[in-house]
Amino acid sequence: MAKKETLFLTRTEALEAICRDFRQYDPQIMLFCQIIRLIFGGDIVAKREEQKNGAWISLPGRRDMRWMDGAEMVEYLCDSLDSDLSVSLVASICARVFQTRASVEVDSATGQEGVSIETGMEDFTCRQCGQCCRTLDYQREVIEKDVALWEELGRSDILRWVGVFTGESNKKSYRIWTTPGTTEFAEGCPFLKRISSENRSVCMIQDVKPGICRQYPSSRKHAVMTGCPGFKGSRFKG
Ligand code: SF4
Ligand code: SF4
Repeated sequence: MAKKETLFLTRTEALEAICRDFRQYDPQIMLFCQIIRLIFGGDIVAKREEQKNGAWISLPGRRDMRWMDGAEMVEYLCDSLDSDLSVSLVASICARVFQTRASVEVDSATGQEGVSIETGMEDFTCRQCGQCCRTLDYQREVIEKDVALWEELGRSDILRWVGVFTGESNKKSYRIWTTPGTTEFAEGCPFLKRISSENRSVCMIQDVKPGICRQYPSSRKHAVMTGCPGFKGSRFKG
């Protein structure tokens, strides 16, 4: 059996990761209810309205229901995640949010207590469907380190598709992929090649692709929530 891949987060890092998760995806209303119940105890009732981005919520200890839109729900949850929560409670919240096993662990290097989270990545196999390359919003995620590597390797074939923008204090930012000689985004990634006869898509710059591409997906949940089929028979629903 493959060894489980785990990630150690301090309590603060775990709380930040939970907030990031809620900000990243559409309102996760049932998950929101589970977590609020874990933190405050008591019953919480949520009623959705069709095609609306939010829900009627009755919070623990309150009988009235009030409308919370998705953004308000996220902020309410993040405000409730204060640093006084015990590490074991934070681990329970992580298990629900990241849909995996999470437990309290002590970092052997620092002696600090934190949360060990199973990423589930040992079960991942890229199906080379190219879905992530075609549909995800990675255009603003290229970083200076990626560009520096391409410059060092003299990869002008890649650099010509990188948009360079100069902001305040001459700080540069980058975009991928822009049509050479313009600041317009290209239609899709120029390095994605479809091999129809084999029903797969390949990356033509696999060895030097941007970090954002290398890091995808970062977890089983990330894959499931963004439509990646790399986890066969995934147990989880978004
Ligand atoms: S969506 Fe998932 S399986 Fe498909 S190419 Fe991207 S990483 Fe691979
Ligand atoms: S660089 Fe490679 S991995 Fe990244 S979007 Fe293009 S084809 Fe996909």
